[in-house]
Amino acid sequence: MPDQQGYRLPTWAPRVSKAKLERLYRGSARGPLDEELIDDVGYALYARCQSMLEVTEILRTGRPKCPECQTILPKRNWQPDEELKCPACHWRCPAKAYNKTYARKNLGTGGLDEEIRRFMRDFESARSPGDKLVLIDTLIHRFHWASTQGRPLATALIEGKMKDIMPFLDRLNYGNSVPPEVTQTRQEWRGKWAGNPWSTTRGQQPNRTAGGDA
Ligand SMILES: [Zn+2]
Repeated sequence: MPDQQGYRLPTWAPRVSKAKLERLYRGSARGPLDEELIDDVGYALYARCQSMLEVTEILRTGRPKCPECQTILPKRNWQPDEELKCPACHWRCPAKAYNKTYARKNLGTGGLDEEIRRFMRDFESARSPGDKLVLIDTLIHRFHWASTQGRPLATALIEGKMKDIMPFLDRLNYGNSVPPEVTQTRQEWRGKWAGNPWSTTRGQQPNRTAGGDA
């Protein structure tokens, strides 16, 4: 919907709520898995990843995307009074307003494009809640340990300030019901869920079917 200025601006998916993520981890440690919550968090991350890839591409190429018809615009000239114009649908907007939609919103990929794409691809084809949970966990913790120019990348995925997010991730645990030897390493924890009693993909991979419908 166009705003008061009379032009539409692109919108980007918000970061995932910390409270929701915490609920997911704590609940998952107790089991059974909350499929609805896993999908909720997973698709929120998916949408956020998509926005991050788009913004990164726009910045890399200098070619914005028309929010009306999705046409990739010609290269920008970066003049202070630049106006963006879509050749296909006649959408136009001051570049300044367009820049503002992503400036300082932590929408950069920080070079993790490959990991982000892999998450999106695998999440699309994942069927069991256990598989989805492992994908979410893998992505979150890949970002947990990554940084760009000294700034932890986790702030791109999770809402809140950097000083709150790092302790939050550090203290995320998987509940008391998980034996200590399992919590020792994430790898083991992931292994647990990959073959968990609520997973339908134990020992097989029906979620990697060709076609990927439904
Ligand atoms: Zn257009």
